[in-house]
Amino acid sequence: MRPFKYSTTENAADAVKIVSANSDAQFLAGGTNLLDLMKEDVARPNELVDVSRIKLAQIKTVSDGANRGNLSIGALARNTDTANHPLVRSNYPLLTQAILAGASGQIRNMATNGGNLNQRTRCQYFYETVMPCNKREPGTGCAALEGINRIHAIFGWSKDCVAVYPSDMAIALAALDATVKVQKTDGTERSIPLAEYHRLPGSEPQKDNTLEHGELIAAIELPKNNFAARSYYLKIRDRASYAFALVSVAAALDVTGTKINDARIAMGGVAHKPWRAFEAEKFLNGKEASEANFKSAADAEMKMARPLEHNKFKVELGKRAIVRALMQAMNGNRI
Ligand code: SF4
Repeated sequence: MRPFKYSTTENAADAVKIVSANSDAQFLAGGTNLLDLMKEDVARPNELVDVSRIKLAQIKTVSDGANRGNLSIGALARNTDTANHPLVRSNYPLLTQAILAGASGQIRNMATNGGNLNQRTRCQYFYETVMPCNKREPGTGCAALEGINRIHAIFGWSKDCVAVYPSDMAIALAALDATVKVQKTDGTERSIPLAEYHRLPGSEPQKDNTLEHGELIAAIELPKNNFAARSYYLKIRDRASYAFALVSVAAALDVTGTKINDARIAMGGVAHKPWRAFEAEKFLNGKEASEANFKSAADAEMKMARPLEHNKFKVELGKRAIVRALMQAMNGNRI
């Protein structure tokens, strides 16, 4: 690991000021991804500003203004505390399921919500510093494009990067129409819909998201919804725990009788960002909640997939995962 300067502060404005003044500085929260990347020489910050003592860990209902009744989840709340918070468990069980599907208990105890959103890809070539990788070192090429690309993207990739985004939590947040609240470098705040927070790789795969350098995530906000009774997070992976998704599906249904009023479906393990299955959602709205319609919705979404040499299996797996997640959602909330 390379030498770096370390400081800590309890003040968000101070943290933003220090990091924005140094292009090689980074925020440190739980450190569960960043410290690994530094040990592997993939991330090379020369300064870390520890933000874990800043009071941004509250989980509470928004009590006034236009967003009254929404749930605000602090960026520095730990993943475990978020998953187990009574307001999350009762009103957003999809989020609880997704968080508990990720990592291990020890990591969830350390990892923060802001850090979870900003975790980096687990593409094996990204971690292997002798291999070409446009995300780690722009302009060097993409070793995965013609290499072993079994775990890589089937939607939205470019010739410059075919990596997938690894978070489970963010897949549920995408399905739940979350908004990311950000403290800007000039001291003001801005809101980014989660669907626009992460990027597709395009020609700049080194940029995972739309944050500017020095901007600090303050909170994640969830709108009220009618999905709590019927939602499900399905994660399919190579081993039962402590593994990233080959394909995951966050499914949520608002149903009267058997008629679907509203559907939300987001997929993980298939793209450089949480992939909202808009075609599937569009197909389902207003239809009967039946297995046949779930299959047609899955077909509508997955026909747009562009698999690589080693991940063609993800297309059929994605179809079946969408159907199974929707069937499980119809069976009701079981957390
Ligand atoms: Fe790097 Fe992306 Fe290619 Fe992986 S897929 S080697 S992260 S450029």
